[in-house]
Amino acid sequence: TTAHIGVTGLAVMGRNLARNFARNGYTVAVHNRTATRTRDLVRDFGDEGSFVAAETAEEFVAALERPRRLIIMVKAGAPTDAVIDEFAALLEPGDVIIDGGNAHYADTRRREADLRERGLHFVGAGISGGEEGALHGPSIMPGGSAEAYESLRPMLESIAAKAEDGTPCTTHVGPDGAGHFVKMVHNGIEYADMQLIGEAYHLLRDVAGFSPARVAETFRQWNTGRLDSYLIEITAEVLSHTDAETGKPFVDVVADQAEQKGTGRWTVQTALDLGVPVSGIAEAVFARSLSGHTDLRSASGHLPGPAASPLAPEEAERFAEKVEQALYASKITSYAQGWNMIRSGSDEFGWGIDPGAVGAIWRAGCIIRAAFLDRIRSAFAARPDLPTLLADDHFGKEIGEAQADWRSVVATAVGHGVPVPGFSAALASYDALRSERLPASLTQAQRDFFGAHTYRRTDRDGSFHTLWGGDRSEVSSD
Ligand code: NDP
Repeated sequence: TTAHIGVTGLAVMGRNLARNFARNGYTVAVHNRTATRTRDLVRDFGDEGSFVAAETAEEFVAALERPRRLIIMVKAGAPTDAVIDEFAALLEPGDVIIDGGNAHYADTRRREADLRERGLHFVGAGISGGEEGALHGPSIMPGGSAEAYESLRPMLESIAAKAEDGTPCTTHVGPDGAGHFVKMVHNGIEYADMQLIGEAYHLLRDVAGFSPARVAETFRQWNTGRLDSYLIEITAEVLSHTDAETGKPFVDVVADQAEQKGTGRWTVQTALDLGVPVSGIAEAVFARSLSGHTDLRSASGHLPGPAASPLAPEEAERFAEKVEQALYASKITSYAQGWNMIRSGSDEFGWGIDPGAVGAIWRAGCIIRAAFLDRIRSAFAARPDLPTLLADDHFGKEIGEAQADWRSVVATAVGHGVPVPGFSAALASYDALRSERLPASLTQAQRDFFGAHTYRRTDRDGSFHTLWGGDRSEVSSD
């Protein structure tokens, strides 16, 4: 038998992707460094479709129809390089290697360039949706050449999640590292979303005085409206869960230290390099990091602040409505930042990414899937040159309607001593962008004072320097 596609690396992700292909009628060659995983897959799920179990790399490659298409689903980093090297040596020009792991886009660029020199196609494909997504339909973000994408398209479209209108959640994102870049930004947005939801929860509990069950109810209600999303849905599930051992709300027995695997950090590091402000994502990464600093937290636990004083019940109800507005407005701002970053990356690396297409493939399958993403898709479809989401009439109108409540929530949070770095960074970004004049004029003047860094003027062209240490006359520095 010849297989349509091969999957090597059969831990949770690879196994479920292989099953997804098989369930969709493809013959799948399967391989894993440790052969027991391969045998287990065929033993446990062999009746779901057509698998070809390969014990060795040579057998695996020999099982594939040409041009050979094989997906690597192993640990990101050095293991991925090792596996690429092992298989590249066995392949022929025109064959396609797909890396579905969580690679850094810069690694993908390097690997793609190396393999292209050897006549091989390399497709770095971001895959989101966790193990359930891999099995039932992930959102797939492939980079690499258009030619390689065309040869994979029917298979990827059949295993991908489908949006409500039936469109598969995959597209050719762009050349070389574009797919993994977009997957990275997806995860950055996911961090920001989770932080904003966390802040809404914190406010509903400590300011509105709601129980976890009542917060869950509130989220469930929000999930029927414009905030409808997977993350809000699972938040309600988590908040209504009771710990079996203690009978307490589950959220109260989980240690309040959030971990991270690194894609949020990559997003922020890359944003710093590109010079694109993603303050919402940065605050989310820092908030997780702060939570884990038990040393700093215990050394600061005695510092004064407002005493806990929940609002009266009649005020609490209205406050919860305001929190919904603040969450929604912060979310729009945060997504706008994410899309600004996609545009910067695309410009920097010449990827030509279609921003609307990214919204389209995130509508289902991935962790940030939400009703909202279809509106982002249509905003860019209507105006492909839209400079930023906030400039879209529809989002601009909504955020304008929310802004008074948003300010009120941030002010209340500050008054009650509840930290809302996500809400307040988003609001600061919104206000900075809409300000006619920013104090950056003063910053630039300071730079000219101590470092002769020059400045531009509002009233005429050119570059100028003031002789601060002399008679303070102005000279042209062009
Ligand atoms: P892991 O990241 O835990 O990787 C385990 C797999 O990698 C096993 O098949 C293992 O083989 C193989 N492996 C590790 N080192 C080597 C090596 N040096 N040579 C050959 N094979 C090696 O598996 P996951 O399924 O969780 O993830 C796979 C990829 O998908 C990762 O890049 C991950 O970041 C990404 N991903 C994961 C998601 C998730 O929700 N888990 C979501 C989206 C992407 P062996 O059995 O022999 O040890």
